[in-house]
Amino acid sequence: MKYLVLLLILGALFFVLGARRARPREPEARTPAPPPEVQAMVSCAECGTHLPANEALPGKGGVFCSSAHRASFEARQGQS
Ligand SMILES: [Zn+2]
Repeated sequence: MKYLVLLLILGALFFVLGARRARPREPEARTPAPPPEVQAMVSCAECGTHLPANEALPGKGGVFCSSAHRASFEARQGQS
């Protein structure tokens, strides 16, 4: 009977130690990923599409979503 009690105590001890060891990992896994870097948004002068500033193409009349829009915008500017 003594051994049974000892076994129970040891079992409880291992259970508590195991639970303590496992717990600190949980919050780490649950912490949300850091928010994405806030990007300045600009809109294409040709079509108005919003896009991150680092993806925009600078042109004469503003920034553009693509070189095609920059070309057509600048062609129109040149005509008038
Ligand atoms: Zn565009």
